[in-house]
Amino acid sequence: MASGQIEHHGAAKGVTGSCHRLRLDAIHSLLVDCGLFQGEEGESGADSTLEQHRVEFPVDDIQAMVVTHVHIDHVGRLPYLLAAGYRGPIYCSPPSAQLLPLVTEDALKIGFTRDTRLIERFLQVVRSRLRPVPYGQWHTVIDNASHRLRIKLKRAGHILGSAYVEVDHFEHRSGKQHRTVFSGDLGAPYSPLLPAPKSPYRADTLVIESTYGDRLHEERTTRRQRLKIVIEKALENQGSVIIPAFSIGRTQELLYELEGLIHQAQSPLWKDLEIIVDSPLAARFTEVYRKLKPWWDAEAHRRVRSGRHPLSFDSLYTVASHKEHLQTVDYLARTGRPAIVIAASGMATGGRVVNYLKRLLGDPKHAVVFVGYQARGTAGRDIQRYGPIGGWVVLDGQRVDIRASVTSLGGYSAHADQSQLLNFIKRMRHPPSHIRLVHGEPDVQAIFKARIEQWASKDGCEVEVTLGADQLL
Ligand SMILES: [Zn+2]
Repeated sequence: MASGQIEHHGAAKGVTGSCHRLRLDAIHSLLVDCGLFQGEEGESGADSTLEQHRVEFPVDDIQAMVVTHVHIDHVGRLPYLLAAGYRGPIYCSPPSAQLLPLVTEDALKIGFTRDTRLIERFLQVVRSRLRPVPYGQWHTVIDNASHRLRIKLKRAGHILGSAYVEVDHFEHRSGKQHRTVFSGDLGAPYSPLLPAPKSPYRADTLVIESTYGDRLHEERTTRRQRLKIVIEKALENQGSVIIPAFSIGRTQELLYELEGLIHQAQSPLWKDLEIIVDSPLAARFTEVYRKLKPWWDAEAHRRVRSGRHPLSFDSLYTVASHKEHLQTVDYLARTGRPAIVIAASGMATGGRVVNYLKRLLGDPKHAVVFVGYQARGTAGRDIQRYGPIGGWVVLDGQRVDIRASVTSLGGYSAHADQSQLLNFIKRMRHPPSHIRLVHGEPDVQAIFKARIEQWASKDGCEVEVTLGADQLL
């Protein structure tokens, strides 16, 4: 490689715990993301959390850190990074700068402490390090006798505030310039609320995610139709629809989609349907999402102009306290009152959604809908896999038979599919000569590598594709 060396401290051979380092020399590095591991790749009880996520790589040489977006598998280890002694700035987009303190607060409560004074002190530190960088503008991060390094954030269409990062490095000694692009998580076109990502003009090296590098998503119109059908079927059966979803991003996009369905609905079933967001965190994010209107896409702005409120409609109900949560679970299990429940965690590895699943999975009148990626080793993955064949899942240590209907709506994925990932590469004016695949399971990475090589040889491009898994530190 002409300039810089890329190392991975996570997400090289899996889909969680993203943390990449661009090393310029022994004393200069740029860190891109610092995420938590989830599912099989991490998680094994609360006690091990601290140990497991401790940052063990050196931090003295990290001059700056860039956050691509605020999902926990990209920023969840920030407290551990600061605890390890990182003192530099944290660059991110303006919306991410507003969302990051909320995410960090949640990560602290889960992994570190419930002491509010300590949390507030810590958040002060995070806020003081945040350096929001507007999209589309170069920003110089390092400028000294040896190196000049600048970054530019571009919209990634994955969640509000998400970005991919272009990194220009100029080394004075060799006179060499090198552009590395870190994709972060790339969204699919036509995501609710978000404009589609556009490819960068050029890259020498591209570090790209490959979560869905082996498959194609359904069309947006089909997925909406399918969501409508699943919901109406559950409503006719007098059952509830449980949707496990990340508190940030998925929940708000689902609300946006549901508002659209309610707005268009002919069937009276939709009129008294309650939409329950059972997560105080998701409710807080939704509030911030509402304030971040300037970053919504054109379709969302059209809805607003026509007098609609895409993220706050009449039938939306938020469950706050734990007591109220338990009452809601019980109420839905006993009465069969039709409702749609959106609750975290997105992969059913914990959180309030687990209580709903324990109570409702055994009853065929209810439905579970997955709208996001389910990592290996998560309860979500087991329900997705064994549910449709009448199997069971272990939740909180107890076996639960799955009789509720289980549907996966791939079209709602926040991640680009194989052709969209390939388009990201193909549509560059000057495609990269080196591509490093990260953030994907090893067999998926191998399939995507073959697909890129097939395109490159057909188009006469010289490109070397390496798998992050081979360079994992
Ligand atoms: Zn993400």
